Amino acid sequence: MGPQRAAILNKELEVYSLHDLLYYFPYKYVDRSRIYSIRELDGSMPYIQLKGEILSFEAAGEGRQRRLIAHFSDGTGVVDLVWFQGIKYLLGKYKVHQEYIVFGRPTVFNGRINIAHPDIDLVTEVQMSPRGLQPYYNTTEKMKRVFLSSHALEKMMATVVQQLQEPLPETLSAGILAAHHLMPLTEALINIHFPGNADLLRKAQYRLKFEELFYVQLNILRYARDRQRKYRGYVFQKIGEIFHTFYAQNLPFELTGAQKRVLKEIRQDMGSGRQMNRLLQGDVGSGKTLVALMSMLIALDNDYQVCMMAPTEILANQHYETVCELLYGMNVRVELLTGSVKGKKREAILQGLLTGDVQILIGTHAVIEDTVNFASLGLVVIDEQHRFGVAQRARLWTKNVQPPHVLVMTATPIPRTLAMTLYGDLDVSVIDELPPGRKPIATLHQFDNRRESLYQSVRKQIAEGRQVYIVYPLIKESEKIDLKNLEEGYLHVCEAFPDCKVCKVHGKMKPAEKEAQMQLFVSGEAQIMVATTVIEVGVNVPNASVMIIENAERFGLSQLHQLRGRVGRGADQSYCILVTGYKLAEDTRKRLEIMVRTNDGFEIAEADLKLRGPGDLEGTQQSGIAFDLKIADIARDGQLLQYVREVAQQLVDADPEGVKPENEVIWRQLKTLRKTRVNWAAIS
Ligand code: ADP
Ligand code: MG
Repeated sequence: MGPQRAAILNKELEVYSLHDLLYYFPYKYVDRSRIYSIRELDGSMPYIQLKGEILSFEAAGEGRQRRLIAHFSDGTGVVDLVWFQGIKYLLGKYKVHQEYIVFGRPTVFNGRINIAHPDIDLVTEVQMSPRGLQPYYNTTEKMKRVFLSSHALEKMMATVVQQLQEPLPETLSAGILAAHHLMPLTEALINIHFPGNADLLRKAQYRLKFEELFYVQLNILRYARDRQRKYRGYVFQKIGEIFHTFYAQNLPFELTGAQKRVLKEIRQDMGSGRQMNRLLQGDVGSGKTLVALMSMLIALDNDYQVCMMAPTEILANQHYETVCELLYGMNVRVELLTGSVKGKKREAILQGLLTGDVQILIGTHAVIEDTVNFASLGLVVIDEQHRFGVAQRARLWTKNVQPPHVLVMTATPIPRTLAMTLYGDLDVSVIDELPPGRKPIATLHQFDNRRESLYQSVRKQIAEGRQVYIVYPLIKESEKIDLKNLEEGYLHVCEAFPDCKVCKVHGKMKPAEKEAQMQLFVSGEAQIMVATTVIEVGVNVPNASVMIIENAERFGLSQLHQLRGRVGRGADQSYCILVTGYKLAEDTRKRLEIMVRTNDGFEIAEADLKLRGPGDLEGTQQSGIAFDLKIADIARDGQLLQYVREVAQQLVDADPEGVKPENEVIWRQLKTLRKTRVNWAAIS
């Protein structure tokens, strides 16, 4: 091809070679080999093709439901073609009693067969493909300008495939190909572009997905093994006086079964001689802090120091207070280090860390600064880890001769499949049980024109002595408008609740001011807190029983779940009210439905993954992994991912040194991939 088109391919698709081109896969296939008749359709078919004519048009529905229906017939029956957009344009474009080829996916609605937003072409414009399934490639505007359409790519691809006289070098070992019945590479590449039939396509897709996920997993597992070999872990052998005293005298309640189990897992790790690298997942309010504290006490018993890092100053403060309270009367020195600890106080803490007098340091990212050094740091606890990038975590590793044990906690449950890909070398513990006596939070969705009746119920709660959060969204691009919303909301709330004290917190406040406002709420002096999402993580006010989220449509699922977790911490029935406008997009309605239906953080995380895809999930962007999987889909291929992880694990176990001749292909391929994909090395 000419230099201009080549440059566009470089830039738009990162395609530089025939090899790159071959790995640019179609996003869909159209079965042009066959025309179905309407009589044979049902609701369970994939994309199909019909040939016939439009009998009549009909506009139906109001508002969001407004749609155009074309009654389409091929003589064997009638289907409804449905569009929700561009009605005027469509009426101008398509004519009744013209012969068309319609392409789309039939579904059944109200007993009738529908095809929503079908592709429609004049019969004269469609060429029947002799090969059967015709590939469709994603293209960009810039590509289209130089006539690199899907069809042009298809032609190029056909030329490349024709030139594939000799098979390409295989990228999986003969053993793995045979054991898992995988199609050879070259055959898979040919069939992914030009499938002989649907079955061959399925086999080609399976082979390529298998390979892609296999190398992701193998890569992670190899790093994990290398790390284990490189770093010894400090051995915390004994459970000593500090732990026992706490258990016997200070522990305010019985641990839940899940807390006990997780604590045991952590204890085993820290005694094993391996460096612990563990992710502790537990829904909001499940009692992670206590587990962290007790793990910290084990470190102290073995004469090591510990450090706990939280993403915000408020949260660090709260942890500090909780820990001091829980350790009351015990002879343990705990200090708080944040950006606002300065001068003599700061000097004293830094000195105490060097001598080992300070046993527990709690703080914000101030604790990873170079000036902070320990006598013998043995354990690091990181709360709400998704707020910290890999680089920040890595800096904690260098605070002792060997890296300390690391426990990261998160209340944003990460679906298992994603955790495996993101944090393949982290062990995962889950607290899947709430402390006894908690009532599930009742979640309701209300439209914003019903605010008065909502306030009425809020007044009742306040009269019973409860406290209430009202949250407004704050999103960077529109910060100014949002702050205005918050201020207006605040005034409005003050007016609506003249007998209450209302406090206000947002991210643009000075820390001291913010702290003072928070304190009003924590102490119970203020009954209502109007805030932005700064209260999202960690804050613990058990007496608060109502969470009202304004403009709930602007929050993501996991954020809504986090916010909801601020209530339901006491013994009283709690409520979460999602307030939205009347017009809602399909996705938004789904999010709200899920929130109303379930309190289960894992179910929500799974749903979030399905709705948004992994690239958008919190924590994945800064995690360092490139989510540029070409063919596998973490949301949909979870089972396969789990399966190949085992295959990869077995391989690493059987060939730990990476030297067996039968695996040579594999180790070579892994090396090549590591060279081309820089980001892979950054995982955890
Ligand atoms: P999170 O997992 O969200 O960090 P916290 O550690 O803040 O949860 O715990 C939430 C609340 O539950 C705290 O007030 C804590 O004291 C309480 N709690 C923790 N463990 C138990 C338990 N085993 N029994 C009763 N209450 C508990
Ligand atoms: Mg917490």
